[in-house]
Amino acid sequence: VLRVAGLHKAFGTNEVLKGIDLEVPRGSVLALIGPSGSGKTTVLRSLNGLETPDGGTVTIGATSIDFSLGVRKQARAELRDRSAMVFQHYNLFPHMTVLQNVIEGPLQVQKRDRAEVVPEAEALLNRVGLLAKKDAYPFELSGGQQQRVGIVRALALKPQLLLFDEPTSALDPELVGDVLAVIKELAEEGWTMVIVTHELAFARQTADQVVFMDGGVVVERGPASEVLSNPRQPRTQQFLERVL
Ligand code: ATP
Repeated sequence: VLRVAGLHKAFGTNEVLKGIDLEVPRGSVLALIGPSGSGKTTVLRSLNGLETPDGGTVTIGATSIDFSLGVRKQARAELRDRSAMVFQHYNLFPHMTVLQNVIEGPLQVQKRDRAEVVPEAEALLNRVGLLAKKDAYPFELSGGQQQRVGIVRALALKPQLLLFDEPTSALDPELVGDVLAVIKELAEEGWTMVIVTHELAFARQTADQVVFMDGGVVVERGPASEVLSNPRQPRTQQFLERVL
């Protein structure tokens, strides 16, 4: 469902992505790992239309965008429509209740019917154990609860592709498990996902494919068990030794 070919992005003279290729079949999970600054977040943001790559193509389902051509604004809107992102710092709207946060995108961006959107949002909140908090404001919730709202907000958009940017790295350790459990359930349900994560045990359990990036290139890719247990490239080995 997702194909990325030759993705390039520079910020000024800083070449952050130097030709990234990815392929994520429908219903599969890709974990993107690598050192800080290797370009992982920039890849995700490019897939979600939050960043405009300088070159390369991104295909999500039936939408294919060639960033070397001049169609950028419309291209970004189309990508944003097909994918939904869960952010490291949740990025909930602080002045809106939990329910308002979840229905905002479906109502305002997708122009869907409130009578349809609200029950769907409530069912999703119920699923992650937060229906009782629907009228609470983000500041009244723990980090783990806020992130589960962040996940529900993404699901409410019914995207073809779910993107997670270090979804647990801002959480206190005791809150990480609940959030990872929700993501794992979504993987088992067959959502197509790309997850940037430092949680290697979680990646091993959840991801079909692991991609290790360093310095704006893909250094190594393969089945999770192979890349994480038996890396072939010295740079991957060094990274895993430092992290584990
Ligand atoms: P981390 O694990 O720390 O989040 P990362 O692998 O996700 O790292 P990116 O966030 O993609 O890495 O950043 C890659 C590089 O791009 C970094 O050198 C960063 O400073 C730079 N960069 C990212 N966004 C911008 C921006 N908007 N303007 C200028 N430079 C940027």
